[in-house]
Amino acid sequence: MAKLDILRFPDPRLRTKAVPIKEVSDAIRVLIDDMLETMYDAPGIGLAATQVNVHQQLVVVDVSEDKNQPYCFINPKITQRDGEEICEEGCLSVPEYYAEVQRSETITVKALDRDGKEFELEADGMLAVCIQHELDHLKGKLFVDYLSPLKQKRLQKKFAKLAKQAASS
Ligand code: ZN
Repeated sequence: MAKLDILRFPDPRLRTKAVPIKEVSDAIRVLIDDMLETMYDAPGIGLAATQVNVHQQLVVVDVSEDKNQPYCFINPKITQRDGEEICEEGCLSVPEYYAEVQRSETITVKALDRDGKEFELEADGMLAVCIQHELDHLKGKLFVDYLSPLKQKRLQKKFAKLAKQAASS
């Protein structure tokens, strides 16, 4: 397994729309394992392929306390939404920044698993929030897009400056 580099906001590659995966091959399974390793190491509770600069529809999630309940969603689609919930979110691509975002409280998601088999999952709580956050990544969307324009501008400036410093050091 190998750890992957995570793209950081405001990297424009985070705005790429992911394409569906045609075949769940061994290469995809290697990518899933690498993404899980990268996510656990960060540490984080979810990671989208977009964040490791692979623009295919794949996300991994594990919201369990013991980090032993990994989910992988290939070509995921939310087929049902219910309720509303406001939750504080963070993102491995926007380090050390947290903000409240409104999401659906309960969702049903349809996807393929690591064997290419279709499955359906009903989720609520943290798992539902995390899945919605990760699926946004596949559309090139970030949780900070839900903030006010002024807050977004400030954040953009701050992170652009950090990126510049990191590049010159
Ligand atoms: Zn994220």
